[in-house]
Amino acid sequence: MDKAKKSNKRLKTARELQKVVTDYYVQCIEAKSQGKPVGWMPPMNGAIEIFYAMDLQPVFPENWSPVCAAFGLTPQNFEVSEQMGYSRDLCGYLRNIIGYVNGLMNDKESPFGGLPEPDILLTPGGGCVPVMKIFHAIEKKFPKAKIFSADLPQVATEEIKEHHVEYAISEMHRLIDFLTEVTGHRMDYEKLKHTVALSDRACELWDEIMSYRRNIPVPFSAAEMGIMFVMVTLQGTQTAVDFLTRVRDEIKEKADSGIGVIENEKLRLFWDNIPLWYNMGLFNYFEKSGGVVVAETYSAAWSLRMDPKDPVRALAMKSLMSYPLVSCVSINKRKEMVLKACKKYTIDGVIFHRNKSCVPITLGQMEIKRELEKQLNIPSVIIDADHMDERNFSVAQFQTRADAFMEMLLENVI
Ligand code: SF4
Repeated sequence: MDKAKKSNKRLKTARELQKVVTDYYVQCIEAKSQGKPVGWMPPMNGAIEIFYAMDLQPVFPENWSPVCAAFGLTPQNFEVSEQMGYSRDLCGYLRNIIGYVNGLMNDKESPFGGLPEPDILLTPGGGCVPVMKIFHAIEKKFPKAKIFSADLPQVATEEIKEHHVEYAISEMHRLIDFLTEVTGHRMDYEKLKHTVALSDRACELWDEIMSYRRNIPVPFSAAEMGIMFVMVTLQGTQTAVDFLTRVRDEIKEKADSGIGVIENEKLRLFWDNIPLWYNMGLFNYFEKSGGVVVAETYSAAWSLRMDPKDPVRALAMKSLMSYPLVSCVSINKRKEMVLKACKKYTIDGVIFHRNKSCVPITLGQMEIKRELEKQLNIPSVIIDADHMDERNFSVAQFQTRADAFMEMLLENVI
């Protein structure tokens, strides 16, 4: 197995994703050239719907990192950030994007023409420390960009109280006022309701798509998780709803016909933590032993339903909940979600990706591992790697651990 490898795409619609990705980045470049204000922001919050409703262009530097990984650009970007003094121990998204904006950014040969420069920066006051630091570094690089410093309470989802929601609502209004002032674009609240309704529909479709993964054999595996691109960059658009509808139709057809990812599915696996973006082919590795990665940490991350009748409140809730759903803001919640997913998708074994590049999602894995064994008698294995930096991934070590784990699981099912 190579260190970098693309996954096998078995879904026709997952192969169509390339066009959706290209169209989105072309749209970002065109927005800039047509004078539409471009705002850079972190993913997984309610600002995306506000931007689309106000006819502004959202761009996600974090999401650009998997694109760089897929195109093999990360080594160059890491070289730039490391020369600037950023340690190899820091988050790979941070090192990649800082390297990119200070290196390849204006290279016309960049994939999709690269990222357009930001007119607005939405710097987060929550989430993890690296994501806040990414934006502080970007602010220095683009001193002309107008900056909105968001301030959201960082609380576990089960501890969100009405006063947190009220505060988040006031932050949403402050963002809308700021965008009106710096761009001259006004908020049309009817359009916002429509945008939130599209966002909610995308989440509903996402849930439906995930529900087919309960089928044995499973019609769709983690190797095709790239479809979540539309949940990150296009939530609130008809494009996302249309794409997910086509994905749902194809998966439903496979599920109804009993067609699985592989012919002889023997083991159902769960993947915890971010995938290795430079090696999505790793998900196919388990297939030679009859294993399929049926679910992953991200499966539940986009299950947030939103009420379009009260769009600002819905977006405030989304902003409060999205990040804690995947990170370890609450270990109890993370534990509950992994255990629930293992029961829901009839999981035989769990792969914990101990991600050198992401402490917030890696934290708590040992406790979850113990509870899986104690409560559900589900074995697990730890794979040491990095979601962005292939220098922290050893193919030989991965194969040794993965092969031994699969052998042990197969003994249990025979
Ligand atoms: S959550 Fe993890 S991967 Fe995402 S920015 Fe923070 S440290 Fe990096």
